[in-house]
Amino acid sequence: MSPTDRRNRIAVIAGAGPAGLTAALELLRRSDITPIVVEADGQVGGISKTVNYRGNRMDLGGHRFFSKSDWVMRWWQGILPVAGDQADSGEALRLNYQGMSRELRPEALAPASQDAVMLVRRRLSRIFYRRRFFDYPLKLNARTLANMGLIETMRIGLSYAQAQSIRRSPESTLEDFFVNRFGNRLYRTFFKDYTEKVWGVPCQEISAEWGAQRIKGLSVTKAITHAVASRFRSSADTSQKQTETSLIERFLYPKFGPGQMWEEVARRIVTAGGEIHLRHRVVGIERTGCEITAVMVRDGEDSAARRIPCDHFISTMPVRDLTAMLQPTDDGVIRVADRLPYRDFMTAGLLLKGMNSTDGRAQKNGMLPDNWVYIQEPDVKIGRLQVFNNWSSALVADPLTIWLGLEYFCRQGDDLWSMDDARFVDFAARELEKIGMIDRREVIDGTVVRVPKAYPAYFGEYREFDKVRAYLDGFSNLYPVGRNGMHRYNNQDHSMLAANGAVNSILNGGQGKSEIWRINAEDGYHEQIDAVA
Ligand SMILES: Cc1cc2nc3c(=O)[nH]c(=O)nc-3n(C[C@H](O)[C@H](O)[C@H](O)COP(=O)(O)OP(=O)(O)OC[C@H]3O[C@@H](n4cnc5c(N)ncnc54)[C@H](O)[C@@H]3O)c2cc1C
Repeated sequence: MSPTDRRNRIAVIAGAGPAGLTAALELLRRSDITPIVVEADGQVGGISKTVNYRGNRMDLGGHRFFSKSDWVMRWWQGILPVAGDQADSGEALRLNYQGMSRELRPEALAPASQDAVMLVRRRLSRIFYRRRFFDYPLKLNARTLANMGLIETMRIGLSYAQAQSIRRSPESTLEDFFVNRFGNRLYRTFFKDYTEKVWGVPCQEISAEWGAQRIKGLSVTKAITHAVASRFRSSADTSQKQTETSLIERFLYPKFGPGQMWEEVARRIVTAGGEIHLRHRVVGIERTGCEITAVMVRDGEDSAARRIPCDHFISTMPVRDLTAMLQPTDDGVIRVADRLPYRDFMTAGLLLKGMNSTDGRAQKNGMLPDNWVYIQEPDVKIGRLQVFNNWSSALVADPLTIWLGLEYFCRQGDDLWSMDDARFVDFAARELEKIGMIDRREVIDGTVVRVPKAYPAYFGEYREFDKVRAYLDGFSNLYPVGRNGMHRYNNQDHSMLAANGAVNSILNGGQGKSEIWRINAEDGYHEQIDAVA
């Protein structure tokens, strides 16, 4: 095809999250295909957006920027450089993330006073259980023993020994997986309630395979060996100290939250001639056989429908919605796609004058030092507590206030999801008061954000996902990418790599589509590992 023929080619992209925006910018950088991005929401960023509530910014879930991929690390820095006061120019920074480690040599440092920068953040997150703080990941140290008490610790030890001598076999459910590795008592104490809060189903209904894939590297034997070894280690053993320091998790974080990255990418797309239509939803797809010819889009404001003819269609919308729009005739494909499971998510933003000092490490106004805290208390529904001030002080309008995110895992339409906003803010504040963290009279303001389909789940009909994948692969110019777009636990980098894979394939005349499905198929790092304990 000659360059003149190619000039008017259009790629419609459903969704302006990390995947959709990466695809659009890469198309503009590397081809003359015009990307038209259609986004149902009123802002860009997808789940990685930052919600601005009266000058206070909310990050939904807390987004660490880390990737094993050099391409992704460079790409991010090409949009937002690392702030000058975070490292010396040319000095390598060591970033660590969920057991992985990498060096980052910032290519150029931006003036520290600049707003369009990424910060290097150090993570602190702990578990709150029995109204006490435990280290995360859980350590067998003096603090844990003191928190649990001698008797309970012995019970846990006995139950672990028992699980080692009488193993559950076959190991078919997630409960079997946990009990075999941690013993029944530790499983019930630290894993059961939280996992069920996250997924909304009992651990007996989740397959053991899920645990094997997602919870690599967590082992009681390792923890015990480490605890015993550390007793014999000289306190002056500096090499060990250095190793431990190097394992402190550090990651990049845009000064104004993850959405800042995607707002800047969107600005560049529009400047380079791409289109982004906010509050527009893809509602239908036209096809001739196995080729997509046009996409139907509805304007959320005036409900007007518009037909956009296209040469390529990159979809980051949920596989369930995409498949329904393609109107398959195979009953198996229809059933599996329609029943793909998801978990939804809500965050209540609470602005406070102060918190109760539940911990020796709290600041004067009671603010906890953590980025986030896992709430394991069974008498409340809250799953995690974000302290936005500790991600970046720029997320908070008034530095004298504390800006919290109370996170709930739920299902669209359930009691939590359906609660009206004012009631939900009150409910969330009461929960935090109940576990002793705040006094409700300290609350100044609050808001609620709902995130539908935050977690594509790997159980139920997902077991037969290959049927749907094979069906979608049959379309010559269709590229399902991204988290819900591929029904994968993608972090931002996986979604970006898949989007880049789609662009490569488009530029190679449709070759290499199967490579896209390999991304994040075996990686061991996901935010859900956190979500389990
Ligand atoms: C609690 C939580 C914590 C996380 N923590 C991290 C982290 O620390 N680090 C990290 O890198 N990642 C993290 N992630 C993952 C990250 O949020 C996602 O990987 C990323 O946002 C996925 O990008 P995406 O473009 O694939 O999908 P999305 O962000 O879901 O974007 C898809 C977009 O498509 C739009 N859309 C859907 N249907 C239609 C339609 N019919 N028409 C038009 N538009 C449509 C949606 O509105 C949305 O904007 C976390 C996620 C969660 C839920």
